[in-house]
Amino acid sequence: MSDDDPVLVVGGGLAGVGCALKLGDEGHPVVLLDRNDYHQFQPLLYQVATAQLPAEDIARPHRGIFRDYPLVQTVTAPVAKVSLSDRSVQLEDGTVLTGSHVVLAVGAQPNFFGVPGAQEHAFPLYSVADAERLRLHVRDLVDKAAAGEGTADATLDVVVVGGGPTGVEISGALAELMEALHKHGRVPRPGRVSLVDRADTVLAAFAPKSRKYALKRLTRAGVDLRLGVGVSAVLPDRVELTDGTVLPTRTVIWGGGESAAEIAGTAGPTPGRGGRLDVQPDLRLPGFPGAYAVGDVANITAGSDPLPQLGSVAQQSGTCAAENIIREKAGQPTEPFRYKDKGIMAMIGRNAAVAEVGKRRHQVDGPVAFAAWLGVHAMLLSGAHSKTDAFLSWGWDYFDRDHAATVEASTDPSRIAWGDDQADRPHIDVGPTTTGSDA
Ligand SMILES: Cc1cc2nc3c(=O)[nH]c(=O)nc-3n(C[C@H](O)[C@H](O)[C@H](O)COP(=O)(O)OP(=O)(O)OC[C@H]3O[C@@H](n4cnc5c(N)ncnc54)[C@H](O)[C@@H]3O)c2cc1C
Repeated sequence: MSDDDPVLVVGGGLAGVGCALKLGDEGHPVVLLDRNDYHQFQPLLYQVATAQLPAEDIARPHRGIFRDYPLVQTVTAPVAKVSLSDRSVQLEDGTVLTGSHVVLAVGAQPNFFGVPGAQEHAFPLYSVADAERLRLHVRDLVDKAAAGEGTADATLDVVVVGGGPTGVEISGALAELMEALHKHGRVPRPGRVSLVDRADTVLAAFAPKSRKYALKRLTRAGVDLRLGVGVSAVLPDRVELTDGTVLPTRTVIWGGGESAAEIAGTAGPTPGRGGRLDVQPDLRLPGFPGAYAVGDVANITAGSDPLPQLGSVAQQSGTCAAENIIREKAGQPTEPFRYKDKGIMAMIGRNAAVAEVGKRRHQVDGPVAFAAWLGVHAMLLSGAHSKTDAFLSWGWDYFDRDHAATVEASTDPSRIAWGDDQADRPHIDVGPTTTGSDA
């Protein structure tokens, strides 16, 4: 193993891509490994799940991102094992690669916290395939309801578990979609969207004013809020809550928490909080020379507070790891990661968003919050897409669009005008399109 060996970047999400772009830009060879041939943009997953964007719009092929980067080789393969002690990566077919450095950027996975039936029957929302599976499932149920099947039961009712940004965003979007489907005569009655969280509020990481705004907008959209209660079991046709309530449903969406991707647990370091790997201020893994962890798989602290699992943390930490690797290769000391806080934000529905920005976490809502959301997401997308203006123009249209367009879009959502090549479409393998709840 020598310094001329490539840097192995495991995971091609925001963190891995950010890292590989920086290394490639500075003339360092990289092998970027991912099980998918595309980079997925998680903040827009709920738009795919609610048929407001086609899946291919948020899945950008790695080969396209690195087309002009001859030093970045992309490998599409599931990684079976990472050994940080000898900086090697083993693919599922047995191939072993070694590098001068390894950057672990494998992200997170849903954590079902051992709730019986959740893994089998709930829909997680962590990948493009998850979002597409959920969209197809809801479309099937809408078709059934439209055909008069099960109009009296809870066919269209949805239970969302978790009142964080994911749960709030998908609840708001689904409630609007259900209402629009009903208003335009597609279904005899709108499905009820219930949002369950153990806390007595939603968006717990936000300030009280933002939470109040979110609760008001969700209530106005007709979301049935079940706060201060947990989920005790998920079954094919219902959810049981800890207070004894039973909610009949065939669609449970899991936004109830996440932990580090499985592979981190066997890479060498003892996993910390959330199964994530505790990194030093410069993002290196203590005791494993040449090994870094970035993005959602890492517990990163800037100053005293642990940083949240956010796109901007992932992207910036990936770039910082690359810079430190370049310093190491040049025999220079590494530098600590300095996070440039872009704020926290969530969409609560069409025309409704909340954001906390700036050093003092200034709270804004409505169109101003949406503008902040759009700006931050355009910046996150810019690593993978050069045409952020196409995204901005889609964004404002999305914010203003009326419900009739939502219904239309629910059958055939129009694409963002990226102007990309037909040959550049990602290969999205959705896998089985039903969960146990359809069995
Ligand atoms: C529904 C949802 C909405 C979100 N909304 C926002 C938002 O609005 N704003 C925001 O800032 N953040 C948001 N986030 C968080 C943000 O998306 C993440 O913090 C960020 O994507 C993490 O980037 P990452 O590169 O660390 O991980 P990921 O993007 O998850 O990338 C990890 C990559 O590793 C690959 N991988 C994992 N294991 C293996 C393996 N064994 N073999 C091969 N490849 C593997 C995966 O395929 C994946 O491509 C959201 C997250 C979710 C789930």
